[in-house]
Amino acid sequence: MKRIYLDHAATTPLDPRVLEAMQPWLSAVGNPSSGHQEGRRAKEAIDIAREIVAESLDCLFGEVCFVSSGTEAANLALLGSALGTTSSRRKILFGASEHHCVLHVAPLLERLGFEVVEIPCDREARISAESLAVLLDDETLSVAVMHANNELGTLNDISSLVRLAHQAGAAFFCDAVQTVGQLPVTMSGMDYLSFSAHKFNGPKGIGALCVQAGAPMEAVIRGGGQEREVRAGTENVAGIVGLGEALRIAGLEMRERQTRKAIARAAFVDKLKTDLPEARFSTPELPELKGHVHLRIPGIRAENILIALDRAGISASSGAACSSGSIEPSHVLLACGYSQSEAEGGLRFTFGHENTPAEGVLAAESLTREARRILSRQ
Ligand code: PLP
Repeated sequence: MKRIYLDHAATTPLDPRVLEAMQPWLSAVGNPSSGHQEGRRAKEAIDIAREIVAESLDCLFGEVCFVSSGTEAANLALLGSALGTTSSRRKILFGASEHHCVLHVAPLLERLGFEVVEIPCDREARISAESLAVLLDDETLSVAVMHANNELGTLNDISSLVRLAHQAGAAFFCDAVQTVGQLPVTMSGMDYLSFSAHKFNGPKGIGALCVQAGAPMEAVIRGGGQEREVRAGTENVAGIVGLGEALRIAGLEMRERQTRKAIARAAFVDKLKTDLPEARFSTPELPELKGHVHLRIPGIRAENILIALDRAGISASSGAACSSGSIEPSHVLLACGYSQSEAEGGLRFTFGHENTPAEGVLAAESLTREARRILSRQ
């Protein structure tokens, strides 16, 4: 059975061209910090990737800091900026629908003496300018709001939020893990921006934090002086090369990829609307991220249908954390105002440019079949 992979928001397949670019660096001996030829070559490979990132995000070469993941990048943005600040401001604002890599940093920030306040989101996980404005004051040190929500696929109007934060004298961190490599994204005006290579057909275990020149930043991982003293540790050269190549290709193929994804998604949605009218889509309009579909089928828990779909050859997700075998209700849906039982039913199908419309139709048929089977047993 050929499986249909519809979990691209979780991770994407490694592009064979990216693997090819990485391959020599998996076995190359040079440490980028060494002064000899092998070391210098490894450093050059990293610098090429850094140039690609700087050009793509319209930031300076020296503003790009490679780290191990989107999670590490967010942790570094929040902790590094809080530790590095000379300001006496002590309030940090987080969007309520942020990824756990932001939300779970709150207890640490609180232990460091900061006050963390959540900005409520709307029914589609968006943070409005109004909800940010009422919380901003002259105590606010920084604001963290993601570009696109990983569960619903909806976008925040980041430039308005950045403007408001800056007017109040606060710094802005944007988790752009779901958008870099998918949509045109630039640093413009942001103080900190994070992304991760495995979301755009690059390797897992490598990401970056862009830190605007002059923005406060204290190293959290300490040791050598790698990554401009912001993040110590011998660099993952192959991973960084892969990130650069994946981003370069994503930039060249962005438009075509968006179109392919949108067509496959539309085939799925159209078929599902006809065959399973009980399905409740979480966004009345399809979300801005072209691969995302988020829905619930009243009366069905996400884990039950996901197991059935997995057996039927379809990989999807609830978009929620899976701990010790049981799926927790999505914190994003709870923040959006859904009830506990509704939040336990959220299903996320995320298409990639590799998916075809025929796969979209097949997935909708499988989902309908499995949903009817579960409902008939209740
Ligand atoms: N932020 C968002 C919005 C994400 O969707 C993810 C991953 O799903 C992350 C951060 C974490 O990225 P990584 O898997 O590279 O740690």
